[in-house]
Amino acid sequence: MGMTYIPSTLSEALRLRAEKGAKPLAGGTDLMVQSKRGIALAPQFPFDVMIITAIDELKGIRALDDGSVEIGALVTPSEIAASDIVPWHVRQAAAGMGAIALRNTATIGGNIGNASPKGDLPQPLILLDAEVVLASVKGERRMLLDDFILGSKKTALGDDEIIRSVIIPPHDFTYSFYRKIGMRRANAISKLSLSAAAVVKDGEILDFRASSGASGPRVIRSKDAESIIKGHMVEEIPELMDSFLEAWNNAISPHAMPEYRRNTTRRMLGYFLSSIHEGASPGIISEEV
Ligand SMILES: Cc1cc2nc3c(=O)[nH]c(=O)nc-3n(C[C@H](O)[C@H](O)[C@H](O)COP(=O)(O)OP(=O)(O)OC[C@H]3O[C@@H](n4cnc5c(N)ncnc54)[C@H](O)[C@@H]3O)c2cc1C
Repeated sequence: MGMTYIPSTLSEALRLRAEKGAKPLAGGTDLMVQSKRGIALAPQFPFDVMIITAIDELKGIRALDDGSVEIGALVTPSEIAASDIVPWHVRQAAAGMGAIALRNTATIGGNIGNASPKGDLPQPLILLDAEVVLASVKGERRMLLDDFILGSKKTALGDDEIIRSVIIPPHDFTYSFYRKIGMRRANAISKLSLSAAAVVKDGEILDFRASSGASGPRVIRSKDAESIIKGHMVEEIPELMDSFLEAWNNAISPHAMPEYRRNTTRRMLGYFLSSIHEGASPGIISEEV
């Protein structure tokens, strides 16, 4: 059986990571499932773990000088949902995760570190071009979350690294859309989720983006599909719609999504674009399915 360490500072944790390769355990809502001991006993794993929950450097949400928002790896979905500086799409995803006990225990670092295709937070974070900050005894590096998550349960995390935080750059969207379709509204692992956003000024679509989760081994965002809409005028939407939806459909890996889910995604994206075309009031576009 592996050893369990409880570092109290980030530098201690980074040393343990470098010297012992100990696996971080944050909320434990994913990792505890692998523990082979009974309820109320200290967890034991076939590998070394370190419980990182006491490390202050990994806590808190703060606004940075350039308008970005930094979320520490130990921040829970409840804290994210309650924050008024975290962008709306990410708050929506956090508020819809599991039941209340899970939202108070799980962490953003664990949701990303786990890289489950069903994880709720990567999808809106990738929409917003969020970056992860990775720390090791050698220093820190930053990379786009979209590059960090390599596939189902696979990340670019080095053997000596810990996720320190997530940084979301500033955005000022005219229109936003978020929807998660699960078995039930709460306590459901996502079956499908979609975020979309657009910036419209003087009838021109200056920015347009969409990302979909639980629809394949990783979050889908297609810059090629987005470019079909981006830079065009709102009045052109009807003539661009079919080629956009087809490009989006082609971006989804062939066997990842059954046809009914593809249809739902296409319909939601079509609804979002039609709402913009029809001159919806700026803000959140919502649709009940
Ligand atoms: C009943 C139930 C319902 C759930 N519902 C949802 C849901 O609706 N949506 C959803 O997205 N998920 C859901 N999950 C999955 C899980 O709760 C989330 O993925 C959660 O965010 C994991 O966070 P954690 O801190 O508990 O991770 P942990 O179990 O502590 O860790 C998960 C993985 O990430 C790694 N890790 C953790 N922190 C770091 C770090 N700082 N640096 C590097 N690696 C790290 C760990 O080593 C491990 O490999 C559910 C789980 C359960 C049991």
